[in-house]
Amino acid sequence: MAEKILVIVEQRGGKLNGVSWETLTGAQTLAEAAGWTVEAAVVGQGVGPIASEIAAKKVAKVYALESDQLARYTPDGFVAALKPFIEQQQPRVVLLPHTYQVRDFAPKLAAALGTTLVPDCIGYKYEGGRLLFTRQMFQGKFAADVSLAGNGPCFASLQTGAYRGDQVQAGASPAPVKTITVPVGAGVIRTQPEEPFKEAKQAVDLTQAEIIVSVGRGIREQKNMAIAQQLADSLGGELAASRPICDSGWLPMDRQVGSSGQTVAPKLYLAMGISGAIQHLVGMKGARTIIAINKDSEAPIFEVADVGLVGNLFDIVPPLIEEVKKAKA
Ligand SMILES: Cc1cc2nc3c(=O)[nH]c(=O)nc-3n(C[C@H](O)[C@H](O)[C@H](O)COP(=O)(O)OP(=O)(O)OC[C@H]3O[C@@H](n4cnc5c(N)ncnc54)[C@H](O)[C@@H]3O)c2cc1C
Repeated sequence: MAEKILVIVEQRGGKLNGVSWETLTGAQTLAEAAGWTVEAAVVGQGVGPIASEIAAKKVAKVYALESDQLARYTPDGFVAALKPFIEQQQPRVVLLPHTYQVRDFAPKLAAALGTTLVPDCIGYKYEGGRLLFTRQMFQGKFAADVSLAGNGPCFASLQTGAYRGDQVQAGASPAPVKTITVPVGAGVIRTQPEEPFKEAKQAVDLTQAEIIVSVGRGIREQKNMAIAQQLADSLGGELAASRPICDSGWLPMDRQVGSSGQTVAPKLYLAMGISGAIQHLVGMKGARTIIAINKDSEAPIFEVADVGLVGNLFDIVPPLIEEVKKAKA
């Protein structure tokens, strides 16, 4: 079996999903540790420009799997395109970003190939030629190292924030791009996709946000949310929250961060009045810089914070907003 890692990147409407860069970084890291090579594949219709974008990175080859039948995502279409391709390529490992789309088709694809998928991994270990994938269990209380039985290519999806997309290595020269027109018979696709779901107007994809101001129960009352919004606006960031805030209806559910909300990996995560329960931490500890404001110096959020401000957020945040405004003026 050729020792290569195949990364299946994700595109929507001709735009590469940012988490795909993180997966590529993870693949490059593993390739360096194991002495393997990285190849990438993008599936859809008219995905040539995306394939070229990836080819600028340190990858050995990029495949564009094209078909009119793949213009809209369907699990049947993706599996029909990828199964014969992977059988022919025989990669050692197939890595994917742990997105909703991947959760939908990857188990079916792995099962069709008679192999297994380790989902939502936060890393890997490569020791003495043995590959283990690390994934969190029991709401992040434990990290398990999972090994794979069998000889088939092993599938793993990587959690948002597990690797940094901005650390993906560029290639010395563009990698070759091969376009493969995949035959996806009309009868293969058993579902009729509707127009892609468009989220409500204010809805936000927090996974793509670079700056997040996140609010916890320390904000006390709904009317105080205005302070957090002002801080987010002054920083040019998005507003997010811990679960009790969303449960109270003070922010929509799609702004909840944590095990039952979104997993985010911004450049800056500013947590105000958040205790740092494990269910919250699993959703944000991949942030590059974490600033925490909490009046309790023993709050667990300080264990993951890069900068900790112990004090009353109502004393700290208003002058902070003024300073940010001054600095930006
Ligand atoms: C199955 C399950 C799933 C869950 N999923 C999630 C999830 O996805 N996301 C999530 O966030 N939680 C989740 N939770 C809930 C989680 O366990 C915590 O209850 C929650 O994260 C606590 O939110 P909090 O930090 O805002 O509130 P609290 O734990 O009440 O903390 C409030 C903090 O504010 C500080 N504070 C109070 N007043 C001030 C002030 N004036 N200035 C500064 N600091 C102040 C306090 O010291 C305290 O540390 C889940 C729980 C379960 C059981």
